[in-house]
Amino acid sequence: MKLIVRETDKGIIYECTCCGKQYHHLPLCFGNEFPDYYFTIPHDEREARVEKTESLCVIDKQHFFHRGRLTIPIIDHQEDLHFNVWATIGEENFRKRNELWRNPARVNEAPYFGWLQTSVPTYGDTINLKIIAIENEVDCIPTMKVTEANHPLKFDQEAGITFHKALEIVAFVLSDSH
Ligand SMILES: [Zn+2]
Repeated sequence: MKLIVRETDKGIIYECTCCGKQYHHLPLCFGNEFPDYYFTIPHDEREARVEKTESLCVIDKQHFFHRGRLTIPIIDHQEDLHFNVWATIGEENFRKRNELWRNPARVNEAPYFGWLQTSVPTYGDTINLKIIAIENEVDCIPTMKVTEANHPLKFDQEAGITFHKALEIVAFVLSDSH
């Protein structure tokens, strides 16, 4: 599918070329409810093997995941593109995140290392890319930055993308629901 931009008397709308569905507000924030690893676990074992809250997840008591927000700036638009993604972190780091969960001073913590565990659409294989997480104020998930050298996702996070490219990415994500 493709999204085309149309100016109407009700303002700008985004229209799907395959089915004509119209979006008055372009969705720019996407999320995954589970780290990709979760889906490798058979359905009937998930309850026993997975412990999960909205933004923290432990699998088999030895794989530690947390959720963060990965932003790709859009250079010629007033909003940016966001993906709420999962990353694995070490056990010690995971415990620290839990301890600091309600602590406003956590914004002073040093950024910490992890591996991306969510496929970011249109960026090829993004599983296990190196990332750093930066703590935000309480009630906000950390900011995630890709640090993997020479990866297009790192490049786009740093340089930003055009609105045209964002439309292509959004169309790709939405094509799942068509
Ligand atoms: Zn459509």
